[in-house]
Amino acid sequence: MVNESIFVICTTYFNYYKPIIYNTMSLVLSYSQARKVFDDAKANQYALPAVNVIGTNSVNASLEAANTVNSPIIIQFSNSGASFFAGKSRDNKTQQASITGAVAGAKYIHEVSDLYGMPVLLNTDHAAKKLLPWVDGMIEKGEEFFKVYGRPLFTSHMLDFSEEPLLENIEISKRYLEKLTKLDMYLEIELGVTGGEEDGVDNTGVESSKLYTQPEDVAYAYEELMKISDHFVVAASFGNVHGVYKPGNVNLEPVILKNSQDFIQQKFKTKSNPVDFVFHGGSGSDPKAIQEAIGYGVVKMNIDTDIQWAIWDGIHKYYNKNKDFLQSQLGNPTGADSPNKKYYDPRVWLREGETSIRERLVQAFEELNGTNRLIKV
Ligand SMILES: [Zn+2]
Repeated sequence: MVNESIFVICTTYFNYYKPIIYNTMSLVLSYSQARKVFDDAKANQYALPAVNVIGTNSVNASLEAANTVNSPIIIQFSNSGASFFAGKSRDNKTQQASITGAVAGAKYIHEVSDLYGMPVLLNTDHAAKKLLPWVDGMIEKGEEFFKVYGRPLFTSHMLDFSEEPLLENIEISKRYLEKLTKLDMYLEIELGVTGGEEDGVDNTGVESSKLYTQPEDVAYAYEELMKISDHFVVAASFGNVHGVYKPGNVNLEPVILKNSQDFIQQKFKTKSNPVDFVFHGGSGSDPKAIQEAIGYGVVKMNIDTDIQWAIWDGIHKYYNKNKDFLQSQLGNPTGADSPNKKYYDPRVWLREGETSIRERLVQAFEELNGTNRLIKV
């Protein structure tokens, strides 16, 4: 009898604490682990795609793509993507919806990542000065998470202070780098302006000199941030833009990245390609320019617009193919009363959007030389 009750107590105890146990299986990486991925990427001349997700459909499709190519993946939430994750109807005046959405999304990814078996670098995207309350809220939740699990909730947050003077950009970035370093996370900063339009920020009219980052600016950021730690990556501008435009409208100059790397290597006597660069606005880019940028230390390429198109394109093609079965609940070419349930079931057409995301991401992995890059971290 006694043994039996001990058994009952033990199982109850185990079940009660199960939510804590799942996290040991999470494949969301810390900076120390992501460092090994970035080092491997630089040594073997590849980069990983970073996909902006807005819900479980895009998260699952991204993880599926990583599993298909047997490589780690970078998944990220933009500020508005995060609030969309929590629900478009929610008030976001104090950034509450964006904080809750990003945290909920992050926890979801921690929970499901093991099902897909591939490491995940979990990031958040552009945060300009006015969005600092969003970042502060996520860091607060991240600190609570770190206390319980001894690992970070996110791998990285991005600050985009490219609209501010360089000195202010770096001064604020240093403060955040200190906080993220303690949580074994990394910081992404932006130097120079990514052209185009994304997430409500319109840089289509910015004068073209600002679209090309200067080596002196990168060197200044590198020197100052290194005083805190090496937990940072740099989004630099080399003519890249958010969005997709007709060919010839975008003039990519990856050599800008090389100039910065060489300048820093000489000035601080570092190894070659000392900076980890991020390529924003990867959608619609010429594969040759992508390869060249990787040679100059790009380890992460953001892809958002092409993924937005992919989900729509998948659903649109499905609709066109099955149009006659999608006009009413009953009635199609096989009979006036024939049911159409299996055509309009949202699992069927949302799945078409998911597989289309997967296919576009597999293409991105291939263009980034990033397939079969699973390493032990
Ligand atoms: Zn961007």
